[in-house]
Amino acid sequence: MECIDDILKYEGYKGFHLDNFDFNKLQYLSGIEKKINKKSDYIFLNNCILDLESLNLEEAIDIVKDFYKDYFNVHNINFVNETLLDETVKGMNDNISSFEFYDTINKILVSINPFDLPFVINGEYNLDSRIKIPIYVYSGYPNEKNREMYFSKITVGNLINNLTPVFVAHEMMHLETLSVIGYADDYLNCEILSIFIEKIAALNMDKSLKLLKIIEKIRMRDLIEQYNKYLRDRHQLLEEDMLISLAYIKSSLVAQKLFDMYIREKREEKREQYIYDIQDVIDGKMKVEELLLKRGITSGKCEYLKCIRRHI
Ligand SMILES: [Zn+2]
Repeated sequence: MECIDDILKYEGYKGFHLDNFDFNKLQYLSGIEKKINKKSDYIFLNNCILDLESLNLEEAIDIVKDFYKDYFNVHNINFVNETLLDETVKGMNDNISSFEFYDTINKILVSINPFDLPFVINGEYNLDSRIKIPIYVYSGYPNEKNREMYFSKITVGNLINNLTPVFVAHEMMHLETLSVIGYADDYLNCEILSIFIEKIAALNMDKSLKLLKIIEKIRMRDLIEQYNKYLRDRHQLLEEDMLISLAYIKSSLVAQKLFDMYIREKREEKREQYIYDIQDVIDGKMKVEELLLKRGITSGKCEYLKCIRRHI
């Protein structure tokens, strides 16, 4: 099992919580949960999800492909066959150098279009989508220059409906950004572009705004759950679990702020600039932090609080 510090280094992050984002300012989120429960909001949300039109996986993937074609030039990603990877690592000589170790793995990577990554239905009745990143880190050398990012599959929950393309669009953005080692300095910013793009996808795929409303509710529910987990378990949680929670909390807030700004832009060219900036990130020309700075989004501002109150 690789340790989280090594994985973050391997993926090119400089660390986490680098801007000292103040999570304690979000205390009011825990009070909101009780209010939401009283309103039976959760049941309402679940019913909305169950009312959505069912799709098959191919239809869902085609919708995401069309969306990405309209908005981005996607670049290829590295695919790895997990069995071959395990055998390759097992078969390596103990005295091999870190450079040779990564070089040997690089030889079995296959450059593919991200939509050609194997899509696997995970067998559970949910909307959960994830990408699998089976990286091996050479002990003591997590940031050797010739290391590459690679992926083995994308799993999708077997509740496949109109929301599935929105979640797959989220995962596609992870594939595109993570492929560029060092696309973000702070690990806690790792979900921002994926959450932002799922909102853009929902807006694009359903002009009635129903999908957008549902996805925003799901994100808000998740934000509150993650925050309660942070308040409850912050002293006992494994570091990795806590980091994932913190990344979701911060990224949900920043993505919401970014999306509010995008929506408020009246001119099409201004909106397009948000997409061009993300293209620059996936092309390795701009970091997530630079994109945020360009928009004046800094964690010191309490705008997050105002912005989130509007959406609950
Ligand atoms: Zn994500």
